[in-house]
Amino acid sequence: MIRNPIKWPNGARCACAITFDVDADSLIHIARPDDGHRRLYPISMGRYGPNSGVPRILETYRRLGLKQSFFMPGWVMEQYPETVEAILVGGHEIGHHGHLHEDPAEQSAEEQTYWFERALEVHRRLTGSTPRGYRAPVYNVTPEVLSLAVQHGFTYDSSMMADDLPYRIDTTSGSLYELPVHWGSDDWPPFAHFDEIGYKMPVMSPRRGLEASFEEFEAQYEAGGLWIGIWHPFLTGRLARWRVVEHWLEEVLSRGDVWFAPLEEIAAYAASQEAEGTWQPHREPAAPYTHPVLMEKKR
Ligand SMILES: [Zn+2]
Repeated sequence: MIRNPIKWPNGARCACAITFDVDADSLIHIARPDDGHRRLYPISMGRYGPNSGVPRILETYRRLGLKQSFFMPGWVMEQYPETVEAILVGGHEIGHHGHLHEDPAEQSAEEQTYWFERALEVHRRLTGSTPRGYRAPVYNVTPEVLSLAVQHGFTYDSSMMADDLPYRIDTTSGSLYELPVHWGSDDWPPFAHFDEIGYKMPVMSPRRGLEASFEEFEAQYEAGGLWIGIWHPFLTGRLARWRVVEHWLEEVLSRGDVWFAPLEEIAAYAASQEAEGTWQPHREPAAPYTHPVLMEKKR
């Protein structure tokens, strides 16, 4: 069912990572640069993540013995250093997620370099190390930002969607793994209701909203693939939704053949399999097109 399958460690049937993008209130400040600071309701909605969501999530991970991945914008790390500390104390990974959740696709190459490196400086200062992984805000990864990640020694990106398993992408500066995401396992469509940034969707019930992610997981479990949840503490960290996730985690872990790991470990494992010659990832250029693809005019 999956081409070029990989043998996961310790006889695991599939690999799994819940990744939380801790955007907090960066979203309203970047969307409304002039008056975002006065919009207290969206600020408070974002602040729920560091205040209540992340501690709840970390407590569950501690109880279940899980180490997972978090992605944080640099500005959020500076605003919420105790959140950074709590995530690190739990042994989890913190990946690069821009500085103020700025969209790389809207920026010049120079601007992308400036913001990428500004956030990188925050990571080094607050965590003592360089992140291994990058996830573009709103998945809007560009050829330039991928090259930056390679230049700074990152081993993976997690913003693109072209395969079921880790695959290799070649940038002009070298290559890294792509640990693919997908909207089907993202909590934004079922749960985000955020008029100020252009989302006004009916909010689904906790169980229904999470069902999509869980079905994606079951398909990967059956096929021996990799499932990545792309969730947000201010959405899925809410009490009723997290209760559903906790029950799901307990059931999945009781199967005994699911490998939960931070993305950096999954990328390192893929690299080890490739180096041993036991597995060959799908490989493609990070940017398949170098010029705009013009539509032929209809006559
Ligand atoms: Zn984000």
